[in-house]
Amino acid sequence: IDANYKGNDARWLNHSCDPNCEAVIEEAEGDNRREDKVFIEAIKDIQPGDELTYNYGIVLAERHTARLKKIWECRCGSKKCTGTMLQPKR
Ligand SMILES: [Zn+2]
Repeated sequence: IDANYKGNDARWLNHSCDPNCEAVIEEAEGDNRREDKVFIEAIKDIQPGDELTYNYGIVLAERHTARLKKIWECRCGSKKCTGTMLQPKR
């Protein structure tokens, strides 16, 4: 699943607070999560030349302090940008 491991095209997709795609996880049968697949699906019309983006959905185990939000700063440029890639905890 990790695009940085062995590499795949997903590693070129950046986070956006107003993405045009979403990551969909298809769990493989059994307990080996390494066999799961991730698909990138469009959630908006995408024009030629548009950058493909999705919300990374990052939620840390610890409290999202101002310091951590700065470390995970978002510069996606969207009008909806929250300034951080960290997502609200539910
Ligand atoms: Zn943003």
